[in-house]
Amino acid sequence: MTYQKTVWDESPSLKSYTLSNFRDIPQIQELSEQKQFEMEVVGNVLPFKANNYVIEQLIDWNNIPEDPMFVLTFPQKGMLRTEHFEKMSNTLKNSSDRKEIAEVANEIRLQLNPHPAGQMELNVPTLKDGTKLYGMQHKYKETCLFFPSQSQTCHAYCSFCFRWPQFVGMDEMKFAMKEGEQLVQYLVEHPEITDVLFTGGDPMIMKAKIFSQYMQTLIDAKLPNLRTIRIGTKSLSYWPYKFLTDNDADLMLDVFRNVTKSGLHLAFMAHFNHLTELTTDSVKRAIQEVRATGAQIRTQSPLLAHINDDANMWAEMWTKQVQLGCIPYYMFVVRDTGAQHYFGVSLEKANKIFRNAYKKVSGLGRTVRGPSMSATPGKVVVDGVVTIKGEKLFSLRFLQGRNPDWVQKPFFAKFDESAIWLDDLKPAFEEKFFFEEELATFKKSKATEPNQ
Ligand SMILES: *Cc1c(COP(=O)(O)O)cnc(C)c1O
Ligand code: SF4
Repeated sequence: MTYQKTVWDESPSLKSYTLSNFRDIPQIQELSEQKQFEMEVVGNVLPFKANNYVIEQLIDWNNIPEDPMFVLTFPQKGMLRTEHFEKMSNTLKNSSDRKEIAEVANEIRLQLNPHPAGQMELNVPTLKDGTKLYGMQHKYKETCLFFPSQSQTCHAYCSFCFRWPQFVGMDEMKFAMKEGEQLVQYLVEHPEITDVLFTGGDPMIMKAKIFSQYMQTLIDAKLPNLRTIRIGTKSLSYWPYKFLTDNDADLMLDVFRNVTKSGLHLAFMAHFNHLTELTTDSVKRAIQEVRATGAQIRTQSPLLAHINDDANMWAEMWTKQVQLGCIPYYMFVVRDTGAQHYFGVSLEKANKIFRNAYKKVSGLGRTVRGPSMSATPGKVVVDGVVTIKGEKLFSLRFLQGRNPDWVQKPFFAKFDESAIWLDDLKPAFEEKFFFEEELATFKKSKATEPNQ
């Protein structure tokens, strides 16, 4: 059967689809029972949520199962390793006990490296009075991450997402925090911080009224060090109506205006994984509305097998972003968590794709940096492959470092065509990478810190 894009209601309400109701989607009913069951198996382990906009406007149902937007939002068999897939599949066939299914799911999840890059132990900041702030991370000097407790979800979930442990009900893993005041206190105690990055989940899942309270608390605090509020969000891509027709859309835009009028820079860190996400009228209008508030939109995405491992697509996507007034910012390498074995791209291939895309765009698109790994020591970019005195090497560089002094010094690793992450690489000319000793000392100091 051939699908036509539905005639779309111009002020739709969000309808979510998860494991419990995805079989109601007419397009899903057209797939074989086997395929539906596979989705159920994977969806019991990894988070899964789609919505009416993604299903009706972004996915090309004539192109299943390859369609990138389909792979981005619906669980795919390959996302679980065979042994894990079989385990969950057998559990579902033999049991309908929710508790037993949940236990098996958690057992599998714990084997998927739920907290890569030492996020839990290494980046949790502490107030001077000793309070640990589990709703924050502070890794790079100028920028701290803030996870509002109301934004631990998104308008739909990306199947590759490294934030997945927050969405699957493993409660002790949630980095949630109730109070904006603690954030302000931390900013007072750390005058080196200029940027606060609101993240989640997706902060744009918040009602404008709640988001406004956080913004007002920051504005009212008149912190001399604070220059920029960033919002990490995929809302433009998954639910542009947030800024168009939702009943608090105008209020949300007013909140943005208030932030920019107060003299702070409001930076929208927008996730766009594929050109398709930039093609609907609604996303284009939403981008205009957000920019009209004085906010700036910067864009980022990981490089993902089965979704966007195509240099031409990246070149077109960056060009389209520039045309729409957005600033290409980062291309990331997929993190070492969850379904990396499915989405991962080798560093060699990532470098090729980045270079082939970068060379096709105008200088205004070359604000993008990558391919970058957000690893334990910092953000490491693969600058290229070089041959020095007959030895083939990766040339690497820190864009951000746990120690700011590591930044912007080229260093080298032995070329390895199968390497997909920093941990896979061996130093080229020394026993250890230049940062390793200092990093080990830092980890040790964290491990012996008294728990509050
Ligand atoms: C990427 C990242 C930031 C922001 O880094 P920029 O290069 O300034 O965009 C901040 N904190 C963490 C933990 C990050 O991974
Ligand atoms: S929108 Fe962001 S946080 Fe939410 S699932 Fe996608 S990548 Fe993860």
